[in-house]
Amino acid sequence: MSRLIRAVIDSDALRSNLRTLRRYAPGARVVAVVKANAYGHGLIPTALALGDADAFGVARIDEGIALRAAGITQPIVLLEGIFTSDELAEAALRSFDLVVHDTRQIELLERSPSAHAFVLWLKIDTGMNRLGFRSEEFSAALSRLERLPTPPKELRLLTHLARADERDEAATHEQLARFDAVTRGIALPRSIGNSAAILGTSAAHGDWIRPGIALYGVSPFADASAQSFGLTPVMTLETTVIATRRVARGEGVGYGAAWRAERDTPIAILAGGYGDCVPRSLAAGAPVLVNGRRAPLVGRVSMDMIAVNVAEVPDVQVGSRGVLWGANLPVEEVARHAGTIGYELLCRVSQRVPRQIR
Ligand SMILES: *Cc1c(COP(=O)(O)O)cnc(C)c1O
Repeated sequence: MSRLIRAVIDSDALRSNLRTLRRYAPGARVVAVVKANAYGHGLIPTALALGDADAFGVARIDEGIALRAAGITQPIVLLEGIFTSDELAEAALRSFDLVVHDTRQIELLERSPSAHAFVLWLKIDTGMNRLGFRSEEFSAALSRLERLPTPPKELRLLTHLARADERDEAATHEQLARFDAVTRGIALPRSIGNSAAILGTSAAHGDWIRPGIALYGVSPFADASAQSFGLTPVMTLETTVIATRRVARGEGVGYGAAWRAERDTPIAILAGGYGDCVPRSLAAGAPVLVNGRRAPLVGRVSMDMIAVNVAEVPDVQVGSRGVLWGANLPVEEVARHAGTIGYELLCRVSQRVPRQIR
């Protein structure tokens, strides 16, 4: 009972999801995206479990530094590149690959005293309008990179899709057409696909794929389960019943008595609240597994606990096991009851939830 709530990480599922994604994009190399603490799964254990990945992708330089400190030797791609000359020096020291998405980053590279030859990923904005060079800026950016005082070890091209998860053929194909037009005739490796593109649009892979959410066994699509792609959830958020009671008809449960019993009802109180990762926006009726059976959330999520109606679940006692998401209860489904996406629930698993790698 010491660990009332824990995120159990299935490292076999991680490896199996990586193999599955490779089958969707035969021949492509894989940048396993482990930003945001590996989508809440724990940066270092996740990277160690993914020893077969060709490279790792992170958003912040500190994440890359932590990976190197843990002995990770694969290439590490800084997906937003560097922002200061200090970061550039750090990146050279640790041999990070850099995404280059704006002119300021090129200027930093031009002025850098370091003789490190970087692998540089030139990012093209094909319609996301977030990061990257626009079509008309692309050739100037490419030739500046080719003429750096220390020429790059290798140059690669990437773009990011805005609507691959909606299976919006028109928008995605427009982005792909722009990418093709801008890069036509340039013999450099390309990278396009995030999880949704890898699973949903075979024309949108490139030589390097960049899966994040699918590696963790979560579907990027609202209308298709992870299971339907052969993916297995990696994180199961296990919890424990810490109290039980019978609530009499007419009584309220929790803050604001936001839920009232229409009849005498057995209620289980489980460890896990918004101090852990359960969003306060999770609506009454959202499914929770207790003793392996689905039971509806009642009342408001508190900081440390939730209440569940266990009228349909036999043998519920203090110590009974609960599952907030994971095997048999996809995080995508829970997220819909909170008006968000699986990505956000996973990334929000807080420091106080211990991770157990299996
Ligand atoms: C986060 C990220 C990814 C991974 O996206 P998923 O939808 O989780 O697969 C890929 N590429 C870039 C540039 C990213 O920032």
